[in-house]
Amino acid sequence: MENRADLLSMTANELKQFVIGLGEPAFRSGQIMQWLCKGAAFSEMTNLSASLREKLSAQAVLHYPVIEGRYASRLDSTVKYLFRLSDGQLIESVLMEYEHGLSICVSSQAGCRMGCRFCASTLGGKVRDLLPSEILGQIIVAQKDAGKRISNIVLMGIGEPLDNYDHVIRFLRLVSAPEGLNIGCRHISLSTCGLVPAIYRLANEDLPITLSISLHAYDDEVRSRIMPVNRAYNIDRLLTACRDYFDQTGRRISFEYTLIAGENDSTDGATELARLLKRYLEKRPFHVNLIPVNPVKERGYAASGKRSVRAFCETLERLGVNATVRRTLGEDINAACGQLRHTAGQDTE
Ligand code: SAH
Repeated sequence: MENRADLLSMTANELKQFVIGLGEPAFRSGQIMQWLCKGAAFSEMTNLSASLREKLSAQAVLHYPVIEGRYASRLDSTVKYLFRLSDGQLIESVLMEYEHGLSICVSSQAGCRMGCRFCASTLGGKVRDLLPSEILGQIIVAQKDAGKRISNIVLMGIGEPLDNYDHVIRFLRLVSAPEGLNIGCRHISLSTCGLVPAIYRLANEDLPITLSISLHAYDDEVRSRIMPVNRAYNIDRLLTACRDYFDQTGRRISFEYTLIAGENDSTDGATELARLLKRYLEKRPFHVNLIPVNPVKERGYAASGKRSVRAFCETLERLGVNATVRRTLGEDINAACGQLRHTAGQDTE
């Protein structure tokens, strides 16, 4: 069992207390924090005394993930990282370049236990939750590798963030802290398959992030077939929670809708979806992101063709629903989450 202190999971205040506990002046914690944001090892923290660096190595640990694989797209500037954690677990992050800056998609768990039928991340179940430091570390290491500031984060990699609630909330506070990476909550999206009680908890955290709901269906029959979580929290409970979330936080909800050929992509389905969302959200603002499913070999689902995607999107818009088709990036590097971890065989042991 590792009993050294996990520095990257500490707030500025906790780090200060830790440094004082080592018999050092409090201001050292500010210097250490700056090094942590740069992904430095203790030996590289050259403005600290050699004795402090030794104390740190003996009593603390830095959970920076190690780059095990780096896949740069030839089609666009997307880079996918396969990261190895301290215990050998593999996770994935994807760095994407947009006009407004660099955006990173990070993982929150090694594996996933939500069982969505179309998703590669869940094929081998969940192995463990990531520590706050391991979520933060993905951003620090990717930013160091890119040599450019990352300005946006999406929690849409491997895992269900709200199934690792406490660590994810701590991560959100750490990454948005001015002493830390200082990425504001308004530049962070959290995607969930719909753990309703956790959505209510999140509404009370006073974190102005964007909540993104993986809806993927217009009725309970379709949703329960492709997303087992719907049997625990059905569409009625989920959309009621979304309405309450908006009323409490004032944050516009975003819905993800993965289009699977013959399963949820008919234009009648689009009409039902528009009616459903308008019935629950009424005049509240929301947005639908359409994503043609990324076929996963083991799953046997096919992506909707361009024509049906366009027809689905146009139907939503005609009915007054704000919708866009997600631009696909990094198609040549398996940039959809879970695929590399799965190919590496880590979830099949
Ligand atoms: N567990 C969270 C976040 C991770 S998945 C959630 O469910 O939202 C991020 C998004 O990718 C989710 O909307 C998920 O449903 C979607 N997704 C998973 N597998 C996919 C695939 N093969 N093709 C397209 N989207 C997929």
